[in-house]
Amino acid sequence: MMQERTYLDWNATTPLRREAREAMAAAWDVIGNPSSIHAEGRRARGLMENARATLAAAVGAQPRNVIFTSGGTEANALALSSGLQSNKQILDRLIVSAIEHASVLAGGQFAPDRLARLPVQRSGVVDLDALRPMLAGRPPALVSVMLANNETGAIQPVAEVADLVHEAGGLLHVDAVQAFGKIDFNIKALNIDLLSVSAHKIGGPKGTGALVLAENVIGPRALIQGGGQERGRRAGTENVAGIAGFGAAVKAAVAARAGEMARIEILRNRLEQGLRQTQGSDQDGSQAGVIFSQDVARLPNTTLFGVPGLKAETAVVRFDLEGIAVSSGSACSSGKVQPSHVLQAMGYGPELVRSAIRFSLGWETTDADIERAIKAWRKLSGALLRKDETVLEQF
Ligand code: PLP
Repeated sequence: MMQERTYLDWNATTPLRREAREAMAAAWDVIGNPSSIHAEGRRARGLMENARATLAAAVGAQPRNVIFTSGGTEANALALSSGLQSNKQILDRLIVSAIEHASVLAGGQFAPDRLARLPVQRSGVVDLDALRPMLAGRPPALVSVMLANNETGAIQPVAEVADLVHEAGGLLHVDAVQAFGKIDFNIKALNIDLLSVSAHKIGGPKGTGALVLAENVIGPRALIQGGGQERGRRAGTENVAGIAGFGAAVKAAVAARAGEMARIEILRNRLEQGLRQTQGSDQDGSQAGVIFSQDVARLPNTTLFGVPGLKAETAVVRFDLEGIAVSSGSACSSGKVQPSHVLQAMGYGPELVRSAIRFSLGWETTDADIERAIKAWRKLSGALLRKDETVLEQF
């Protein structure tokens, strides 16, 4: 009999929540185009507007300021359009933190010479002291800083960034794709101007997301032109079933968040204890393992772990053969593993950067999954680190 798998790659994507599946199944039978004014069209629009209201309420925005997109990537690309205005001035320069997702690092519509990178500290948190001179005495900028990093889980000081950016007359975009559904936040309290979210990280379908605007944000300019859908900001007949699934996932995730995350954090801490005990303990005399960003506020579900000498790609394959899905930093569409730009930006050298493996947990993760991962690491670590496996067996 095939043993069940242990899935510990929830930051890459999550399984569909039951509520999202049911909402989508029902939506497939709604035949109307949401732009049509007849009853069929109005029914489709109703599903979409329901999801829009749910998402808006979850992040503290107005429904009219939610623009549905094909996911977090498109939401980021739309946010970084060249059409944003602040105080009647078009923002024509962009500052992005060095640990952003590739879709933000790409710089959207800004030319490379209008794009600057905000450094991060070794902790994985953006360097506010570096941001000040980047803003001072210069034309206002659009600044993009994520709420939580997908690799380390490090939570960024977004409210402080917002203050600095606004003082300098700019706008703040926040990629909350990883934070949404895991920590409680609100765009008003954090003073966020543009917010990206994605359905598939919270139990919704892949291929659906949204850009949410604060009140009074002018722009962004539509990337996809055509019909007037999404108030002219994203043309094309909407993905009604996907959006309905997204709305249901938001509702379920928000309702369950506090309980789920408290339980998940205990499991994550247990995992980290197990990883530490196996590798980097005083007894085996080996080089210490590192849990990146462990001294700063982190998402409760994420562990990025590295040990000098470990090759992350090999570790991921060996874990996979043990029935456990983990990842080496972030998922990459080509399937090729790139050295983590996040750890590089944090100032780690190539050996540790190459060694980092990410365990990310979710609402279906069990005690047994965590014990299995720890056991697998005990079994594999010796060979993976090219050391005497028996030394590690004692733990
Ligand atoms: N931003 C962050 C921080 C992410 O982790 C991801 C997905 O990995 C994205 C954006 C992209 O979202 P999507 O997969 O919906 O395009």
